[in-house]
Amino acid sequence: MSALSDTDASQRFLFADADIRGESVVLDTALQQVLARHDYSATVRALLGEFAAAVVLISNNLKYRGRITLQARSSESLSLVMVECTSDLQIRGIARGQLDAVAAAPLDLLRGGQLVITMEREQNQRYQGIVALGSGSLAGALEDYFQQSEQLHTRFWLAATTERAAGMMLQQLPAQRRQTAEAREDQWQTACVLADTVTPTEQLELPPATLLHRLFHETPVRIFEPRPVMFGCPCSRERSLNALSLLPEAEQAELLAEQGCITMDCEICGAQYRFVQTDIPALAEKGRVH
Ligand SMILES: [Zn+2]
Repeated sequence: MSALSDTDASQRFLFADADIRGESVVLDTALQQVLARHDYSATVRALLGEFAAAVVLISNNLKYRGRITLQARSSESLSLVMVECTSDLQIRGIARGQLDAVAAAPLDLLRGGQLVITMEREQNQRYQGIVALGSGSLAGALEDYFQQSEQLHTRFWLAATTERAAGMMLQQLPAQRRQTAEAREDQWQTACVLADTVTPTEQLELPPATLLHRLFHETPVRIFEPRPVMFGCPCSRERSLNALSLLPEAEQAELLAEQGCITMDCEICGAQYRFVQTDIPALAEKGRVH
């Protein structure tokens, strides 16, 4: 297993002699915290792991404050798989549906589904892209998405066990070097051929710098400082109260009368927020509710 500092970290790298950039990630504790809230089968855990690794790879290059969400919906065993990552690399996620479902390939649990990629910038700017989960792998679906949306070659290598997940991404950059289109394409193909030799075990267990050296020693890469990835949920007491305040006043009063307080649970991180009458703006002024 790799050293602690190599896990739960995302690593950018750049090819020294080609217009190609890369990202690599290994998730351990941060992923286990995502998985801890619900009783998921081994297949669902691996699926959430792949989603988590993928969303971190995409988010590490965010040029603005915001977040990226990878969300899949299907009418197979799982109705929803969602993992999101902020520009600070805080991840959270959830699966809904038959959580004990198992399958030979994790993506089988979402057969016929769609993958929705949402990029949200603070101040509410939002961009959404949709791609079919038809190619049999999450990596394949993401490659289709980038081909459509950015028209830059992008490849993903994802690996996950029940406890750990890892990923690598290569992306061709807009042409900066003086070279023929053919030479540019050759460099891209060479990088992909080398990356294709990676095994899931290497991805999950080697420190990223060792792995990148092993794969690309013929075409040197410059490796940047790793950035830590953490589990984090942006839910808060204030947000829960805002959501509660959207209910009609009569409904708020009824909920309060049933229990003497209103509890709201965050489905994703398990946090529990409890409100008594004086906490609830619409009801605070109105004496006893009964
Ligand atoms: Zn939460």
